[in-house]
Parts: sequence; structure tokens; C-alpha cells
Amino acid sequence: MIVRPRKKLKKGNLHNTLSEYRGRFAPSPSGSLHFGSLIAATASYLDAKANQGKWLLRIEDLDQPRVQAGAIRSIIRLLEAYGFEWDEEILYQSQRFSAYESAINELSLSKHIYPCCCTRKQIKQTATMGPYGLIYAGTCRRGMPISAGSQQSTRLITHNDAISFEDRLQGEYVQHLSSEIGDFVLKRSDGIYAYQLAVVVDDDYQKISDIVRGNDLLDNTARQIYLQQLLGYKQPRYLHFPIALDENGNKLSKTNHAPEAEIKDGLKNIHKSLQFLGQMPPKMTDFAHITDLWNWAIDHWDYNKIMR
Ligand code: GLU
Repeated sequence: MIVRPRKKLKKGNLHNTLSEYRGRFAPSPSGSLHFGSLIAATASYLDAKANQGKWLLRIEDLDQPRVQAGAIRSIIRLLEAYGFEWDEEILYQSQRFSAYESAINELSLSKHIYPCCCTRKQIKQTATMGPYGLIYAGTCRRGMPISAGSQQSTRLITHNDAISFEDRLQGEYVQHLSSEIGDFVLKRSDGIYAYQLAVVVDDDYQKISDIVRGNDLLDNTARQIYLQQLLGYKQPRYLHFPIALDENGNKLSKTNHAPEAEIKDGLKNIHKSLQFLGQMPPKMTDFAHITDLWNWAIDHWDYNKIMR
């Protein structure tokens, strides 16, 4: 939960950038890009470019069964058509499984994880309801029954000390993992690594200094910071912007049938994203080409103008 308002910081640029700014956009290819994901791409790109930083593209194709055929190609083609330029090679999470396994091994050596054989039904029966969903009762933390099958997930032991961070836009955010989230899964019983683990390992691997993403991920951040602490990683800075909602107040997503952004609509969609991000660009017809719009947007980027 948020406990204190943001300290007032002025300007879009980070004057205290000591080391190199490295940002990223990390779409999950469960579908093509829609307006919501385009805002994440735009905000992370502008924040990196306005800070003379690097901007990396990472395809989070972790959950292979959920990867939609053709989605990766269509995401890349759209970003290219819209004039996004990423530095360095694209990183694919599907090629990083050994890195995730190494992290699990490290956490196993430091005794921070345990195997869990609880079924979904058992979890539901014993869990309590927390502010962000069901809190696992910790049943297998005390050891699994002898009858446990081989289908086991891997859970991380959480504690209840406050984990807090200062979000550049939202202010101070504090969470107590054990009472608000519970011991969470790092590797599912079907062998798929959890987003929380993969994102932390890859943000460190790519030396990401700044994470700019939608505030639907705000309550995931304390879990990620805890993992960074356990693995001895540097903590990036965070900026969570409000996400775009449809007319029913739902998050724009593939499940909610958000329309795909179309290749031909680059200028229009980036202009719309800038408006959403509070950047108040001059009218669209003032820009002959999308490059002109990007130049304007990089010059004028001010994250303080994003509505909270
Ligand atoms: N892959 C995540 C998504 O598409 C984003 C992860 C992140 O930015 O940390 O929602």
C-alpha cells in the first residue's frame, strides 16, 4: 500500500544519474501490441532517450504455452514501423532458462526456497484472502507429506519486515510480503519459471537502471526487490504510470479484447500515447513524419506531467 506522497522532483530528466541509464520494454507475446502496451513502450523509450540512456527490448516469452503464434514478429514489426530504436540485441526469456535455474540453485543453497506439492484446491482451502489475492498458508514450508507426488512447485520464503521503495511518480510504497502476499512461486509445478524470478534475473543481467511500466505491476515490485536483495543484485529505480482502461474500467489487455495497434497508425497512436502520458504535444498535423514527433517528444519529456 502507498503510505506517503511522492517527494516533489522537478523536470523530466534525472540529474542524479550517476551511472549509465539503461531502460527496457518487456512485452509478453501473448498477443500483438495494443494501446496499453504501446504506452509502456513509449514511456520507457522517452525516459531512456531523454536521459541519454540505452533502451532495450526483451521478449518475455517465458510461458511458452501462452505465446501466441506470430505475436513476437508482429510486436517487433510494429515497434520498428513506429520508429522505436532499441540498443543491443533483443533478449528472449525462452533462451534464459539456465540463468533462472542458477538463481533457484543459489536461493536453495541459502535456504530461501522450498518445494511445494499443494494442489490448487488445497491452496484455496487453506489460504487466507489478502489485499492482492489469496495468501498461501505456508503448508509445505514445514515439509511435504511423504505421499507427495513429483509435481512440485518452488516457493520463496517471505518475511514480514517492511520492503519499501520510492517510486518516481507514485511516492513511497511499502509492503510486508509475508502478511500481504505470502510465500510465492518461483517455478511452477509444470516447470515454467515465474515472471517474478525471470524479470529480476534479466533486469540484473541487462544492467537495467530504470524500470518504467504500468502501475498494474506496482504491487509486484516489493517481491522483485526482495529477490534482488537475496540474489545480491542492484535495485533499479522505478516509475509506475497509471494504465489505460477501457470504457468499463478494465485494463486494456488481450483477454479484454483490446484492439491491436495497426502498423499504418504510427503517428496517430504515438501522438495519442503522448497525450495519455500528459505530454501535451502540438497537434498531430504539425508533424510531417513520425521522426519529428519523436524528436519533439524526447526534447519535451517530463514524467512529472503524467497523471497519477
Ligand atoms: N512482461 C510484462 C507484461 O507484458 C511486463 C513486465 C515488466 O515490465 O516488468 O506485462
